[in-house]
Amino acid sequence: MALSTHPWPLPGDPAWDDDHMKEECGIVGIWGHADAAALAALGLHALQHRGQEASGIVSLNGGGRFHAHKGRGLVGDNFGSAEVIRSLPGQAAVGHNRYATTGESTMRNVQPLYAEFEFGGLAVAHNGNLTNAMALKRALIRRGCLFQSTTDSEVFIHLIAISLYSTVLDRLIDALKQVQGAYSLITLYEGALIGARDPLGVRPLVLGRLGPPGSNAWVMASETCALDIVGAEFVRDVEPGEVVIADSSGVRSVRPFGAHHGRFCIFEYVYFARPDSIVEGTPVYDTRKRIGAELARESHVAADVVVPVPDSGVPSAMGYAAEAGIPFELGIIRNHYVGRTFIEPTDQIRHLGVKLKHSANRAVIEGRRVVLVDDSIVRGTTSKKIVEMVRQAGAAEVHMRISCPPTTHSCFYGIDTPEREKLLAANHSVAEMAAIIGADSLAFVSIDGLYRALNRPARDPAAPAFCDACLTGDYAIPLTDLAGHPERERALLALNGA
Ligand code: AMP
Repeated sequence: MALSTHPWPLPGDPAWDDDHMKEECGIVGIWGHADAAALAALGLHALQHRGQEASGIVSLNGGGRFHAHKGRGLVGDNFGSAEVIRSLPGQAAVGHNRYATTGESTMRNVQPLYAEFEFGGLAVAHNGNLTNAMALKRALIRRGCLFQSTTDSEVFIHLIAISLYSTVLDRLIDALKQVQGAYSLITLYEGALIGARDPLGVRPLVLGRLGPPGSNAWVMASETCALDIVGAEFVRDVEPGEVVIADSSGVRSVRPFGAHHGRFCIFEYVYFARPDSIVEGTPVYDTRKRIGAELARESHVAADVVVPVPDSGVPSAMGYAAEAGIPFELGIIRNHYVGRTFIEPTDQIRHLGVKLKHSANRAVIEGRRVVLVDDSIVRGTTSKKIVEMVRQAGAAEVHMRISCPPTTHSCFYGIDTPEREKLLAANHSVAEMAAIIGADSLAFVSIDGLYRALNRPARDPAAPAFCDACLTGDYAIPLTDLAGHPERERALLALNGA
């Protein structure tokens, strides 16, 4: 990590990008089970798609003793050995997967964060991105707080530490009331495992029960796929603005923010969540197929074959093919063994880029009119290379279909998107984008089509059901830290309907 010369990163600093705009993560917490760390490791394994840069587990043993293990790389690299799991004893644990960042990263930022307080130890695992973390950090530093990392999540630690409330729960709620942004977080201290979602519930968090009914063993996790892997029963989603406490007397909850209409991240349905997860009562897989069907209805084109860009384009391509009555074929094969650690050995082959990951299945493509379906175009790099590859494999025509409206705005709530200058759709018309990626035609599902796939009649601009800021510029949570930053000015213009 190129650390900022300022005590906190300013817009434009490399550290700003590295730590504040790339906080996609997966979190899991276990309470009341003898194999807590092993289950947390399994949960993290299921949540690997939410973060591949680093992973960590903090466990709590009797007598308030905490144990931690963290490392860079995949969950299997860090928690694949019985010895490591044995070093994490106790009946409760909290775990975290951190998303890949482009910058050099530092172990100091690997979560869960852990600190000693006057009431004992406490660990925090956070998924999301705080939009006033820098403002809070400045104020906390002035008050004498010494920050150990450059991750926004550390403000939770200091806000809890300086809170004047006496119980840990009240201190945590006190902290939550001061932060702005998107967060799902799980904290662990000697008395309880506590899960919380921000008032709009932008990022996901679910509650599950381990063992037979009546047992007092609980799981909290980003997605239901983490419950499935540990054999937990899904109990319910943690609600927007809800704080759920699992302790020796069972599970209870408080709602410090009152009743709120959530605005869950629509991009979790489009791309980020695992297809076998059920998010806010809606299976991700079915939703993606329905988006594909909407796309086919909205932008049908005469073609011989529908080909997904694997893996994320597969369910929507299936929905497209079924609706359009065009055969679905695996015309692109993905190599699953290309890790992010694969370094192209020489400059001469670096330009091969995406071909390390995808290759065209000529038998399916040659001489055919191909509809290629992917979930999103961000910079356009993937689409451009895939279209070229499909043409080289002999396609007669290549029509690109995207199961998400154009990504025109950056996300400041926890999904990794580059600044607007680098977003293809922010700077080009659809026709220009088609020319740039080299497709015969290009179409995106409409925003209303996306909402229809999510069982809404259309997007209600007065009260949108989801956070769709990346697609509309409608930023529902203040962007305090971006004061003076061009992105914020643009966001404000969008908010004001300009
Ligand atoms: P790009 O090549 O920059 O246009 O990115 C689009 C591709 O990246 C698509 O194939 C998506 O499946 C994938 N993608 C979209 N959003 C993200 C994200 N936040 N992190 C990683 N990959 C993404």
